[in-house]
Amino acid sequence: MGNPATRTPVIPIADLRYRAAVPSIPAHLQPATGRLNDALGRPLRDLRISVTDRCNFRCSYCMPKEVFDRDHAFLPQSSLLSFEEIARLARVFVGHGVQKIRLTGGEPLLRRHLETLVAMLAEIRTPDGRALDLTLTTNGSLLAKKARALHDAGLRRVTVSLDALDDAVFRRMNDVDFPVADVLAGIDAAIAAGLAPIKINMVVKRGTNDHQIVPMARHFRERYGARAVLRFIEYMDVGSTNGWRMDHVLPSAELIEQLDAAFALEALEAQAPGETAQRWRYRDGGGEVGVISSVTQAFCHDCNRARLSTEGRLYLCLFAHQGHDLRHLLRESGVSDAELSGAVAEIWSVRADRYSELRSLGVAQSAERKIEMHYIGG
Ligand code: SAM
Repeated sequence: MGNPATRTPVIPIADLRYRAAVPSIPAHLQPATGRLNDALGRPLRDLRISVTDRCNFRCSYCMPKEVFDRDHAFLPQSSLLSFEEIARLARVFVGHGVQKIRLTGGEPLLRRHLETLVAMLAEIRTPDGRALDLTLTTNGSLLAKKARALHDAGLRRVTVSLDALDDAVFRRMNDVDFPVADVLAGIDAAIAAGLAPIKINMVVKRGTNDHQIVPMARHFRERYGARAVLRFIEYMDVGSTNGWRMDHVLPSAELIEQLDAAFALEALEAQAPGETAQRWRYRDGGGEVGVISSVTQAFCHDCNRARLSTEGRLYLCLFAHQGHDLRHLLRESGVSDAELSGAVAEIWSVRADRYSELRSLGVAQSAERKIEMHYIGG
């Protein structure tokens, strides 16, 4: 390995040749019951849909500039699922129990007319007649412009990723010199448009932005109180391009100690099974914060999330190596909704992925290349 300070960085070339299998259609089609469990008894509740693999930021932990440069081949428009294809697949997943849909990317607000898709998804009802919990994760750069239209189209909530309050640190982290003031204006606009309470996600990388933890907490509790919930995410080993190292991870337990010393915290109960964040409240009533400890306290045991990539591949884990090519079924096989539903049921019912738990247990992982975060979404 050599001395990290003197080592020449080796940056693997990213491409989009992730493996994908064409799903089979079961011979006997069962109607969806809304209660589909995987091989470990985990239901399907949460679908994350990536609407673009492009992003206008180059955060080094996600889309490092050296890899995702001018020559990088992003997916051509014809590869992307259309809004109609996305809505059709979403209806199939809702039939199997999905209650929450999160639009993501890349940067989802780069996809043109996204509010049209939001309006289509907002019309979908669960088998018992409820509207979906429809949300979106964004870097906030275009939110000031788009918050009102998204809300009016039926978006319920929004999560904004923001890694620092200090302008110089933020510009360095997004690596495109984007000013923090514009993201903060986007957050204000989202709250004014009725998208509150809003979640703010901060990925913490030790030695890069851990000195921003307390200033971020102070800013959001003082400015918004309960209308904003700041969540701290442990830097994860997703993809293969970010040079992840364990010593860059700040364990959530350490982070909570820092916050507790500054503000005095009290643990809160989880609101729903499968929730990614552990919740804490400020004892003085100043709102709440969360920690997402994907590295130090893996939560695979109740993971109820499926991910649909920009080009229509279904992934059952953020750390998967292989997807299931649903777009092939839509475009090449011309399947019916019942066949599509059967194929999804068959895929989910044998799911046994628990990458993070196995990593914690020290079980050797496949050396095959993992999918990148920008391709599959957060
Ligand atoms: N562009 C949108 C955004 O910035 O929120 C959506 C896509 S982005 C891939 C989704 C989330 O993944 C962001 O909050 C980002 O910070 C987070 N993320 C990306 N790489 C990560 C990593 N290695 N560890 C932890 N979180 C990561």
